[in-house]
Amino acid sequence: MSFLSLQVNEVGKQVLMTGNEAVARAAIEAGVSYASSYPGSPSSEILGNLGKLAKQHNLYAEWSTNEKVALEGAAAASFAGVRAICIVKPDGLNVAFDTLKSLTSSGTKGGLVLVVSDDPSAHSSTNEEDSRYLEKVAHMPILEPSTPQEAKDMTVAAFDLSEKVKLPVCIRSVTRICHASGNVTIGPVNKSIKQPVMGPEDRFVTNILFHAVQEKKLAMLAQLAEQWPFNRYQGPENARTLIITAGPGFVYAQEALSVLGVEEQVGILKLGISWPLPENFIVNHLEHADQVIFLEEIEPFNEENIMRLAAHRLEEVYPIKFYGQKSGHVSGQLGPGLGEINPDTVIRALAGILNLSYTAQPKGYGQEAASLVQNVPERELAFCAGCPHRASFWAVKSALAINGRNGVVMGDIGCYTMGLLRTGYKLLQAVLAMGSGVGLAHGLGKLDRFGFEQPVVAMVGDSTFYHAAIPALINAKYNKSNFLLVVLDNETTAMTGHQPHPGLGLNAMGDETEHMPIEKVVNGLGLPVEVYDPYDVDGTTKMVFDMLQEQGTKVLVLRRTCALVTAKKETKPKVYVDQKLCIGDECGCNRFCSRTFACPASIWDKKAQKAIIDEAVCNRCGVCVSLCPQNAIKLEGVEAGEY
Ligand code: SF4
Ligand code: SF4
Repeated sequence: MSFLSLQVNEVGKQVLMTGNEAVARAAIEAGVSYASSYPGSPSSEILGNLGKLAKQHNLYAEWSTNEKVALEGAAAASFAGVRAICIVKPDGLNVAFDTLKSLTSSGTKGGLVLVVSDDPSAHSSTNEEDSRYLEKVAHMPILEPSTPQEAKDMTVAAFDLSEKVKLPVCIRSVTRICHASGNVTIGPVNKSIKQPVMGPEDRFVTNILFHAVQEKKLAMLAQLAEQWPFNRYQGPENARTLIITAGPGFVYAQEALSVLGVEEQVGILKLGISWPLPENFIVNHLEHADQVIFLEEIEPFNEENIMRLAAHRLEEVYPIKFYGQKSGHVSGQLGPGLGEINPDTVIRALAGILNLSYTAQPKGYGQEAASLVQNVPERELAFCAGCPHRASFWAVKSALAINGRNGVVMGDIGCYTMGLLRTGYKLLQAVLAMGSGVGLAHGLGKLDRFGFEQPVVAMVGDSTFYHAAIPALINAKYNKSNFLLVVLDNETTAMTGHQPHPGLGLNAMGDETEHMPIEKVVNGLGLPVEVYDPYDVDGTTKMVFDMLQEQGTKVLVLRRTCALVTAKKETKPKVYVDQKLCIGDECGCNRFCSRTFACPASIWDKKAQKAIIDEAVCNRCGVCVSLCPQNAIKLEGVEAGEY
């Protein structure tokens, strides 16, 4: 990511940008006044960049505590007549949906763009979701860019469209647009930023009568969609084979037709607006096709809508054979409707449908690739070296083992979701959504009257605490539940790129702001709270054990800054294994440090049959020093007992 690319202001100049940067640039060109988001991959960089550019371009940017609040702030700016942008990922759309559903009914005033960045194949998400279905339910237009240039152009156009139809407009991006780079032409910055004002006639409410207004707006949008400049057809006139696609599928389709040498036989209908459909534009092309191939990621959204359209306009279209996910001919990497498509999957699908012979790579390429992969060291998904969460999980696991009553742990969304994995000691037994670990723990904590006697722990991160845990904690206090909430406070929103949150006293624009420590919030609720350093594993274990003896809802904040933040700042003593003391295979559950504790910096020297520390990876947290049963792991220059 290059922040420099966003500072170029030479109109007409081409600059290499990612899709996320292009959306941020578009917001600036469109004269946006208000930008809000909650951190979430793959789109975190949009608000991150707008925060850095806020002062230069006289806009307000905020990391909100959750997506619902983010959308409400942006909606209010729109109600006052200025342009606003809100950025979420699909899980965030779920959180904001309650507000969104009413907002499309109440209508808007200043241009309001909602960027929803889906994550096909869930590269950085806990689940895979196609947000287009929710956007359709919300009665809002869906624009799907295919390149970073289109991401910018469509976002600028989306503000105008929003003001025309008085609705929020969705830019549906995906990971391969967010993070792909391409040349983007710099446009002029709209200088005519309005003074926000709400007059007495400005009313934004919703009731049953507004449903009819929504439907009228959708009908108007469908008319506008017929002329939408980002819909286009390319290929031979009246092609009998037609690809219908949107988003990155358009780029893959072009590449596939070129590789297969059939550009002169197959046409591509590229939709820039996926909802509502430009029905006449589509039917005009269906009229000459006898086979249609749908290319899209995750669910068959366009496929279903267009097949329904063809059924309604049956008398106008030629008898058509449809191919896509529903027929099983087009598939993501894990099957139809699952995950990303890419140029390879598209080429294979088209070759199969068009009955063309195609050899994916020169002979021997597969073996060569496989032999190269063998040289890459195996890496299990694990907490980073020195991560305080590893120490916290080890302490909670140890405390529950000492407690011996089959304690259960409810998890949450963040780096610490790795508590589901072997390297997180498989401690988490349920992970649903942001903040839901607290609600689940509450439910279990109320089962004592039926004889449920297992201790209950919820583990959430600091950013998640502010996002959605607080209402669940109030509910627990109100309803007198019995569980321990452990807040893993690494003083940042680590998983999405170290964004600030209310516990830090910094905002998205880098300004100092109110600092709301978690323990003060908990104190304000009248709940008992302790704060402890998880690097002291023995002390943390005792603290968890002791707190589990207490009845009622109680909170333990385990505070230690993310190892990736401190690694940049601190110089700490080097950690090494005294090979004379290491007993290797004889140790605990066989090589405790490298196998069981599972820090990526702690590795096994097969030749010496001893543990060693990988200096390049070790963040020198010192936690393994206190855990080695042989005291074989040492801090350079620190005597035993001093640490
Ligand atoms: S000190 Fe030990 S636990 Fe900490 S990062 Fe280094 S090897 Fe890992
Ligand atoms: S925990 Fe200590 S004794 Fe066991 S393998 Fe690691 S360094 Fe060796």
